[in-house]
Amino acid sequence: MDALRDEDCLFCKIVAGEIPADIVHETETTVAFRDVAPQMPVHVLVVPRNHHRTAAALARDEPGTAADLLTAAHAVAEKEGITGGYRLVLNTEAGAGQVVFHVHLHVLGGRPMGWPPG
Ligand code: AMP
Repeated sequence: MDALRDEDCLFCKIVAGEIPADIVHETETTVAFRDVAPQMPVHVLVVPRNHHRTAAALARDEPGTAADLLTAAHAVAEKEGITGGYRLVLNTEAGAGQVVFHVHLHVLGGRPMGWPPG
């Protein structure tokens, strides 16, 4: 399958290597890089290489890659030494704070977290 790409998408440009990022993990279908404005000691974004707007679109159109995103997130947690406790966040649409419309999983950790989040 040819890569799905949106020419105006920041994360498509990072996946293509056209914008620099601190990449921490890569697979055939995913790329993980550090968030430029970390909200936790560990804050990594895991994205599919192909452009999909939301998690629902990814799960519908490329379900194997939706699963790959979770596997990659755990691999990131192992590399970062946070398997004792990490949080996955998937903001969906503007009302939930999604500002980059290329689906991405936030992997957050590195300090204790309560629930519900404060
Ligand atoms: P969201 O609000 O869920 O759409 O998350 C978008 C995230 O992308 C934010 O946490 C930003 O800090 C992050 N971000 C924006 N630009 C970059 C960039 N060039 N490299 C890494 N992370 C970025």
